[in-house]
Amino acid sequence: MTIPLGFITRYAIPLVVAALFLGDVDIPQQVEIFDKTQRLADETLSKARGEGEGPPESFDYIIVGGGSAGALLANRLTASGENLVLLLEAGGDPNPIMDVPYAQRYYWDSVMDWNYTTVKQNRSCHLMGGNCIWPRGKALGGSSSVNGLLYNRCKPKDYDLWANFTGDQSWSWASIKDTFNSFENYHGFHEETAGANHGYGGEMYVGKIDYLPGVEVFEEALREKGIPTGDLNGGEEFTYGFSKIDYNIKDGLRWGTYQAFLDPILNRSNLVIYRYAYAIRVETISLGGREHRAVGVTYERHGAIRTALAQKEVILSAGVVESPKILMLSGIGPKEHLDELNITTIVDLPVGKYLQEHPGLDVTGTKGGFRLNTTLGKDYNTSEAVLQFLQNGTGPMNGFSYETGYAPQLMMGYLNSSFNQDRAWPDVHIYIHEKYEASPEEWEEMYFSMELVRPNSTGTIKLGSSDWNEKPLIDPNFFEDMNDIEKMVDVIVIMMDLFMNSETFQRYGIEQMDVYEACSEEEFLTRDYWRCLVQQRSFPYFHPTSTCRMGPDSSVAVVDSKLKVFGVPNLRVVDASVIPFVPSGNTNLPAMLIGARAAEIILSGQ
Ligand SMILES: Cc1cc2nc3c(=O)[nH]c(=O)nc-3n(C[C@H](O)[C@H](O)[C@H](O)COP(=O)(O)OP(=O)(O)OC[C@H]3O[C@@H](n4cnc5c(N)ncnc54)[C@H](O)[C@@H]3O)c2cc1C
Repeated sequence: MTIPLGFITRYAIPLVVAALFLGDVDIPQQVEIFDKTQRLADETLSKARGEGEGPPESFDYIIVGGGSAGALLANRLTASGENLVLLLEAGGDPNPIMDVPYAQRYYWDSVMDWNYTTVKQNRSCHLMGGNCIWPRGKALGGSSSVNGLLYNRCKPKDYDLWANFTGDQSWSWASIKDTFNSFENYHGFHEETAGANHGYGGEMYVGKIDYLPGVEVFEEALREKGIPTGDLNGGEEFTYGFSKIDYNIKDGLRWGTYQAFLDPILNRSNLVIYRYAYAIRVETISLGGREHRAVGVTYERHGAIRTALAQKEVILSAGVVESPKILMLSGIGPKEHLDELNITTIVDLPVGKYLQEHPGLDVTGTKGGFRLNTTLGKDYNTSEAVLQFLQNGTGPMNGFSYETGYAPQLMMGYLNSSFNQDRAWPDVHIYIHEKYEASPEEWEEMYFSMELVRPNSTGTIKLGSSDWNEKPLIDPNFFEDMNDIEKMVDVIVIMMDLFMNSETFQRYGIEQMDVYEACSEEEFLTRDYWRCLVQQRSFPYFHPTSTCRMGPDSSVAVVDSKLKVFGVPNLRVVDASVIPFVPSGNTNLPAMLIGARAAEIILSGQ
């Protein structure tokens, strides 16, 4: 079944794209229909094969979750042909609509999202009534099938911190750099000068996009203000300043971990993928004393509950929300919390305790950002734009649109708040957006968005109940430490100076953004005004980590530096949840790195 689906996927894209722009088509509904059709086909095939009948099926490894880390790991563990691997994935194949960068907006609240929200926040997400959205991809490829595709390796010092915290120098930047290069195929903006800073033979394509309206203007303003530009993914060499953004886009289309690591190996006979398989808990047996060994996974698929056995290991790659949920439902977690829910604790570990996430913000007023008196962009909603995309994979359709509308990103940058003066490890990440509307009136604006990448605040993930069907309680606890607000305000001030006080932007007739209504009681453009804006408009930036973090021992961590769950032999966690401290940027590449490192660790018998 998978071969025809892959085939259809490629040929469906042009049709879908045309429909997106030219037809009056309800796209979210198309997303649902694609999923329903797939689900039905999958169920029929599963019944015809007699899956789940007879004694439990047995594999060498069971991987739960085929996302950024899980897809890469499944690829590597099956490469030699020696290991029989079962990949359990709660979603289906990624919808081809999502291959088109422009279409990212259709993901929100779709069947490809887990549709989580947080518990009520006091100092953030007022835009969402206090309950922040918390998107997570539900499909093969995981969040890399729905994310913004922005390529960011984060900073060398992030990895050195992991190494120092775990006491295992194999996580230091010097050690992991080659692993990054091993799965990368770099063709980004810095290709000609990148040298050994990037990899060129791997599966993960890194490309560039051509539609960057007004990027030269922004670059000129940076020069005027003395802010440097270079390759922010080049390792130690360039860490502070701005870069044109590289993307995981190939020939104009999404290149997530499904496309890179799963699609090419779907016919490996030693890789069994169960789509629409929801893992409920890890099965363990007591080894006497306090140790329990993982022996399998119980999962729900097409209405039936089944168990599969793992002769070697169970590996949770279900992401930052679901990996801790599965552990806790298996009795592995904080005893105090599990007692409240009448779940018997088999190992008392700080699961869900160190959640970290980047609070993010679009710095705009009620009507938008900085209006310009010129037209740098062009209309994206035209048949020419569709044609250009179909012919070359270029043009406005390569720009990203969000739930807030079409606003391609021009550059990304790293700046420092006054709390941090280390240019090698800045604490705020910036994105520059352009927004052009042709009708009802012509409108051109730029704005910046930002994320605090090294917040002090820490949150939690807890179970809502012992029922596996129920959503967990996500509490990022944003701005518990009020200094996190001050850090964001510091950098807003720097960015405002760049836009409003540069001759470059004055030449383009830049207009001050308008007052954001909810903050109109504060004096406009003062720190109090920005403090208000941060709290009113901030939201999660989709980079959560650390709910099953790795560390030196079980008092402060869930897994050791080889990603083994403390006290449960044959069980590992391999996804962004093991990251000990949220890194200074987007987390897709770090999650892939963890998948790749896990494969190296496992295959070398550690
Ligand atoms: C909207 C959005 C935009 C983003 N933009 C960017 C970006 O531009 N650049 C960037 O670098 N990062 C970005 N990120 C972050 C990045 O994509 C994630 O950090 C990364 O994909 C996480 O990888 P993971 O392997 O930990 O989890 P995931 O990729 O989320 O994979 C987890 C997988 O497990 C499956 N699963 C979960 N529970 C179960 C279960 N019980 N049973 C079976 N399967 C299960 C899920 O369906 C999913 O496929 C974005 C994320 C989102 C959501």
